Amino acid sequence: AASIITIGDELLIGQTIDTNSAWMAQELNKIGIWVKRRVAVGDSWNDIRDALNEESKQSQIILITGGLGPTADDITKPLLCEYFGGKMVVNEEKLQHVKYLFEEVLKRPLLERNLKQAEVPDVCKVLLNERGTAPGMVFEKDNRLYISLPGVPYEMKGLMTNDVLPMIQKRFPLLTIIHRNLVTAGIGESFLAEKIQDIEESLPENIKLAYLPNFGMVKLRLTGTGSNREETESAIEKYFLQLKERLRELVVTDQDLPLEQVVLELLKKNNMSLGTAESCTGGYLAHLITSIPGSSVVFRGSVVSYANDVKEKVLGVPDRVLNEHGAVSELTVKAMVNGALEQLRADVVIATTGIMGPGGGTTNKPVGMVWIGVGNKERVSTRLLQLRYDRSTNIQITAANSFNLLRQFILGEA
Ligand code: AMP
Ligand code: MG
Repeated sequence: AASIITIGDELLIGQTIDTNSAWMAQELNKIGIWVKRRVAVGDSWNDIRDALNEESKQSQIILITGGLGPTADDITKPLLCEYFGGKMVVNEEKLQHVKYLFEEVLKRPLLERNLKQAEVPDVCKVLLNERGTAPGMVFEKDNRLYISLPGVPYEMKGLMTNDVLPMIQKRFPLLTIIHRNLVTAGIGESFLAEKIQDIEESLPENIKLAYLPNFGMVKLRLTGTGSNREETESAIEKYFLQLKERLRELVVTDQDLPLEQVVLELLKKNNMSLGTAESCTGGYLAHLITSIPGSSVVFRGSVVSYANDVKEKVLGVPDRVLNEHGAVSELTVKAMVNGALEQLRADVVIATTGIMGPGGGTTNKPVGMVWIGVGNKERVSTRLLQLRYDRSTNIQITAANSFNLLRQFILGEA
């Protein structure tokens, strides 16, 4: 098993989200390393040392990120040097690389503290790090492997992919770990659990089921572990098919994909182009879609019609509708769909209009009231949401519901 220790005060105060250990755990899982613990500690000598002592008791592989910068707040390197009983020496290869980086790539003057980046404890194996100045370091003690990597995600990922993962694969007998994901929509996790109780109870020891609810959908994840890949694969496949069959009407996708990507594939398959007319989501739908590579094949564009006169002038929402029914109304969202179909020359359009909070609500139209419309030239389908979260969560839930409504619309369910 492995432990991951992430280092940095910024992680403890929540200023930086620890994405490193999430990514590392995923990559370790892929090659069959079970991550037993993830620990975050500050840039403090005693806390880092205690974490090393503790994780040495838990795991054979201890991965460490952070605290390798050239400034005084980063202390991981001298600490590891002392912890493993070494002394600092200049690594000639890294020194040449640091000089090259500053002179040829960054074209910036090289400071003494940057040269220090090429110093490493004489008791480690150095991982060069082509993406930056801080080298990775590998220590061994009592048959345990300690691997220290820079905190910068881009640099850490390069070292993991090129050096660390291949090294671990060579050295340790590996388990097979397989995850299969089923995304469902329509009912909550408790009801789901009732529906599949007998399947869940029949799962063997080495297959685990997890419920991951998020924004009105529930992802079911089966995780199988074993020493033989084929056996583990066929065992997990058997139960996965049972779940899929049982939940047939609720399944959104049997892949671990975001909803917008599922919808994008569906649009592609049906040769349909998409446009969005966004008031309360402010372009977020367009952002999610265009984050997927290849979205240009289906996505036409978006009108972010935040103000009423933009809804009127750009999308042609009748001013009578806006005055009599208001911007947050079914008629407005329908008119937005129709206007965008025309303006964007798209086959289908999603439109959103609502009150995301914290202010702006009235008795008739409280905060969290959202109208979503999805339609084409023939018909428009609408849905009313009453959300009760903070602004950014309300926006995310609206997006998830919008894509799900579009999915149902395309499948002819809406
Ligand atoms: P350091 O190696 O401590 O100098 O870290 C350099 C930068 O990497 C920090 O300023 C953070 O922005 C980022 N960073 C450090 N640790 C993490 C982590 N666990 N997850 C994501 N980013 C991190
Ligand atoms: Mg730091």
